[in-house]
Amino acid sequence: MTTSQFDHTAVRGAFDRSIGVATLTLAMSGKANIINADFSDGLRAALAWARRNEALKGIIITSAHRDFCAGADIDRLYAITDPAELYGGVKSLGVLFRDLETAGVPVVAALNGAALGGGFELALACHHRVALNVPRSKFGLPEVQLGLIPGAGGTQRLPRLIGIQAAAELILQGKELRCGPALKAGMIDAIVETEDQLRVHALRFISENPKRKQPWDEKSYRVPGPQPDSSDARNMLMAAAGMLRKKTAGVFRAPELALSAISEGLKVDLDTALDIEARYFVELATSDSCKDMIRTLWYGRNAALKCEGLPTYEGAPFKKIAVIGAGMMGAGLAFVCADAGYEVVVKDIDQGALDKAHSHFEAQLKRRRKHLPEPERDAIRARVTLTLEPALVRDSDLVIEAVFENLDLKHAINEELEPQLAEGGVWASNTSALPIADVGAKSKAPEAFIGLHFFSPVEQMPLLEIITAPATSDETVARCLAFCRRIKKLPIVVNDGYGFYTTRVFSAYIMEGANLVAEGHDPNLIEWAARSSGMVVPPLQVFDEVTLILGVKANEQGRSYLGGAVESPGMELVRALVAKGRTGKSGGAGFYDYDHGKRRGLWDQLGAHVTATASAALDVHGLKRRLLLAQAVQAVRCLESGILRTARDGDVAAVFGIGFAPQTGGPFGWLDRQDLAEVVEELHLLASSCGARFAAPKMLCDMANERRRFFDTPRAD
Ligand code: NAD
Repeated sequence: MTTSQFDHTAVRGAFDRSIGVATLTLAMSGKANIINADFSDGLRAALAWARRNEALKGIIITSAHRDFCAGADIDRLYAITDPAELYGGVKSLGVLFRDLETAGVPVVAALNGAALGGGFELALACHHRVALNVPRSKFGLPEVQLGLIPGAGGTQRLPRLIGIQAAAELILQGKELRCGPALKAGMIDAIVETEDQLRVHALRFISENPKRKQPWDEKSYRVPGPQPDSSDARNMLMAAAGMLRKKTAGVFRAPELALSAISEGLKVDLDTALDIEARYFVELATSDSCKDMIRTLWYGRNAALKCEGLPTYEGAPFKKIAVIGAGMMGAGLAFVCADAGYEVVVKDIDQGALDKAHSHFEAQLKRRRKHLPEPERDAIRARVTLTLEPALVRDSDLVIEAVFENLDLKHAINEELEPQLAEGGVWASNTSALPIADVGAKSKAPEAFIGLHFFSPVEQMPLLEIITAPATSDETVARCLAFCRRIKKLPIVVNDGYGFYTTRVFSAYIMEGANLVAEGHDPNLIEWAARSSGMVVPPLQVFDEVTLILGVKANEQGRSYLGGAVESPGMELVRALVAKGRTGKSGGAGFYDYDHGKRRGLWDQLGAHVTATASAALDVHGLKRRLLLAQAVQAVRCLESGILRTARDGDVAAVFGIGFAPQTGGPFGWLDRQDLAEVVEELHLLASSCGARFAAPKMLCDMANERRRFFDTPRAD
């Protein structure tokens, strides 16, 4: 075999003269191939080198890393604020991909692992995509999840390849598909089982398709499915826009602009279409919202997953786990632990609760049956023991207590069962608000006592708030972080205090919703204001879900920690609703009416329960400010009192734990976008009209005076 070589820091080339095939291997330094200037320079030079070979019959693009290509260089995207500079970069990448697909020879993407974002866009600019069938192989355009759209042709080539509707669904939801579904969707053309077969397949494609062009470069090309200017396509796009607005309340620009790019771009030639996409991409990538989303959803989340600045633990932290209390939380977290491979004993005092937990497991297993073979489901079942017998807790090295929110009960259970812990075992409470030092007051091993605050539904909610009491040891924290990694949750470590972090912010949110109703504001407008501010769930809806009884109980409990500060017109309203039997969704009625568990609409008599005079009739903007400021004030108080270690933790926990408006990056990010002096002024006014809950924290006043911000976020002028 006679070969010639090409070498660049990002791409290696090898040309096999005997068959006329150039193999371009993406081989950037570092752990993965990412798209940046070095990548483009390398690929451009490699393509030119390959084309200089007169005997060139085809090109294979593959990767020297585990994955094909991870997509854009996020560091670069985050830092860039000049639209003109970014536009230049995007256009030049567009030209390069276009050169690749019009090189005159077939180009095959040999996908040896994941190809995401820009990586998948490169694959789309090839004539054929063959993928290695391994679990890490995932394909898609997930850009909207960071407030972006695909910017290297994804919004134009994917619909031209698989049709408008199918592509819009994938792009607007930022879906990533594994080999099987990706093949079915038409995103890839073939799957093989070994690396060798990747090359064999690619070579065969090249020899069988010497004149292959992209479908859209053929004269007879038509978009699959409804044609772009047909009434079917128009109806489809209109329906998609309507659905999007319903789902996102018009807050998230990225999916809306992705839809615009698709619908506008499909009506024109590819070059013009790529320019339309590039302009929308630049608009988004230089926006405040995109920077804030990248800061929290990418950097903040990754830092939390890496447990930056936190103690580490080598090895398996626990073998056997006992969950005390088989209620809503206990059942969920027992399932999550068993699913992660732990032996779990679930102990309750009520056989009915154990039976319900059993049904919960079966329902979860049934939901997973498509992806989990029967033997694996049996193995999960076999790892769980449901029992009334305290002796079965013996030798557990992690106990997670999830009984009713009652301090005396939690003490009694700790005293009864702590002696059953294995030597050096850890005791965790899933309390949603009680200070961990108080819950652990009777413990004989306070250094191994900790709070593990899971969120409901446990299987779906990503966050785990880990609360350390003053006596909690670093080793206990480290073991719980290792456990958190194993059960695939996102950890945030906070210091102790009533309501810790998330419960304080969440309670402030739902209580502010109730306060606004009690002041006579239109409940429908309150819910809409929340959604159009980006909150994932509106306050009255979520209040009903956690139950109004919980609100009343938490208020009584909070009184002993926070004194009269917990009183508010909203609390009076909540008590009145509970007295009428309107206890929330599970009780069949709350702020909303329900029909067999289905939400029907806000109760039309809420207006009769106005207990306070509104300071002013608020419009949607005013309602939004109240709902977000109530939370942001609590967040800042948690930071200034040391409950939160960093503002970054606060943003990550608010977005992933309680659905705080993700497009702001979290409460601190939201504050950062404003003039803090004006915010402080507004808080002074609100504190005098609504109460001390709006009193401006000293930290915020100081920051306003010193013109400081929480983050150093790059901003376009
Ligand atoms: P739940 O009422 O659904 O379940 C509590 C369970 O504890 C019941 O099955 C009960 O029989 C059992 N129990 C009571 N006394 C017991 C004893 N002596 N020994 C063993 N079991 C006993 O409650 P839940 O909603 O699962 O909440 C449990 C804990 O989790 C509470 O501290 C709560 O604040 C916290 N939490 C709840 C949520 C939520 O959304 N529900 C979220 C986070 C944290």
